[in-house]
Amino acid sequence: MIDFKVLAEKYDTPLYVYDFAHITRQYEELKKAFSGRKSLISYAVKANSNLSVISHLAELGSGADCVSIGEVRRALISGIPKYKIIFSGVGKRDDEIEEALREDILLLNLESEAEMERVEEIAEKIGRQARISIRVNPNIDPKTHPYISTGLHENKFGVDLETAKRMYIRANNSAHLDPVGVHFHIGSQLTELEPIKEAAAIVADLVRSLKAIKIDIRFFDVGGGIGIVYDDEKTIEPYDYAQAIFSVLHGLDVTVVCEPGRFMVGNSGFFLTRVLYEKVNEGKRFIIVDGGMNDLLRPSLYNAYHRVEVLGKSGACSEADLVGPVCESGDFFAKSRMLPATEPGDLVIVHSAGAYGFVMASNYNTRPRPAEVAIVDGKERCIRAKESFEDLIRLEKMCL
Ligand SMILES: *Cc1c(COP(=O)(O)O)cnc(C)c1O
Repeated sequence: MIDFKVLAEKYDTPLYVYDFAHITRQYEELKKAFSGRKSLISYAVKANSNLSVISHLAELGSGADCVSIGEVRRALISGIPKYKIIFSGVGKRDDEIEEALREDILLLNLESEAEMERVEEIAEKIGRQARISIRVNPNIDPKTHPYISTGLHENKFGVDLETAKRMYIRANNSAHLDPVGVHFHIGSQLTELEPIKEAAAIVADLVRSLKAIKIDIRFFDVGGGIGIVYDDEKTIEPYDYAQAIFSVLHGLDVTVVCEPGRFMVGNSGFFLTRVLYEKVNEGKRFIIVDGGMNDLLRPSLYNAYHRVEVLGKSGACSEADLVGPVCESGDFFAKSRMLPATEPGDLVIVHSAGAYGFVMASNYNTRPRPAEVAIVDGKERCIRAKESFEDLIRLEKMCL
C-alpha cells in the first residue's frame, strides 16, 4: 500500500505519484498477449515522458514511439535502443528529420506526400537511406471522444489508401527511402475491439497488395489507443486485442508493433491535492483544492472522468464540485460528484492520473508544476522535483 499521507507531507501538494509495479504488470501482460508472433511494444512517450518512467520501460524491453525530436532524445538517454525508436507525428521540422536520420532510429513514420519529399531530400543531403513507414487512415470510426479520435478522413492524421500505395511505389523507387513499415492509429481510449480489427484488416489488405508488387512491409504498426478503466468502462483484454490483430495477418511475415501510452501508465498514477476550504454558492457546494487545471488538464480539456477519493473520510456524501484555484470556470476535477464533508488539509486522491497528466501541466497563473514521485520495489523515489518560483521566471528578462 502506498502511504499517500506521508508522501504528501514530504513532497508537498499537489503531487503526482506513480506505482512502477503497475507499469511492469501492464507491459508484461501486453508482451505476453503478443507472444504468438514477432512483436515490438513501443511505449508512446507522450503519455508520460519522465525519464524514470521511460527507463523503467526500457529495462522491461520496451521501445518508444515519439512525436518530437525532444521525445526521441528522452528515449535515447533513458536507454531505449535506437532500433526500437519510432518517430511519428503529422508535422516534423527539417532539423528534427535530420537528427532522427543521423541517430539511425528504427522508423520515421510519415503522414503526407509532402513530408516524404522532405525526408527524401534530407536523407539525400546527408547521404543516408531513411527507413520509413506510412500512416494510413483507414476511415474507421473508433467510437471514442472526438478530440481523441484520429481514424476518420475528417481528421488531420495519415493518408488514404490510394495515396499510401502511390507513396510506397515512389519510396520503393527512391535510393534514399526504404519503405519497411505501415502504421495506423485510429484513436485513444478505445474500448471496442471491432473498429481496431476492421482497420487492421484494411491495412493488412494493403500490405498484401504491396507484397504482390514486391514491396516487402516488415513492420505492421497497429498504433496505440487501448483504453483503461477510469470509471466503470468495459475495456479490451490484451489477449483478445492481439488475437484480433493476428486473425487478419494470414500470409504475412511481419513484426507487429503496438504503441500503447495510456494503457501502460494511466492507472499507475495518482494526483494528490489538499482541500483548502469548502463554500456554498446559491445552494451549490464547492470543494476548493490546491491543485488546478494547470496541473491536471484532462477534466477541463476532454470533460474526462477521474475517480476521486477523500482520504480517510467515509461519512455521509452530498453532491459537490471539486475545483481548483485557477481563474477559469473550466478549472474542475469533478462535477456534481457525491463526496463526503471535508475539512481544510484533507487529502484528495485523483485516480488514473498517470497518462496525459503531468505532461500536459503548465505554469498558468504562475503556478509551479508539481513534483513526481515513483514507487519502485516498495520504495519512494523523487523523479522530478517541484518547480520553484525561480524556475518559472528563469528565462524571462525585464527590458526596461
Ligand atoms: C497518442 C498516440 C499513441 C498513444 O495513444 P494511447 O491512447 O495513449 O495509447 C500511439 N501512437 C500514436 C501515433 C499516437 O499519436
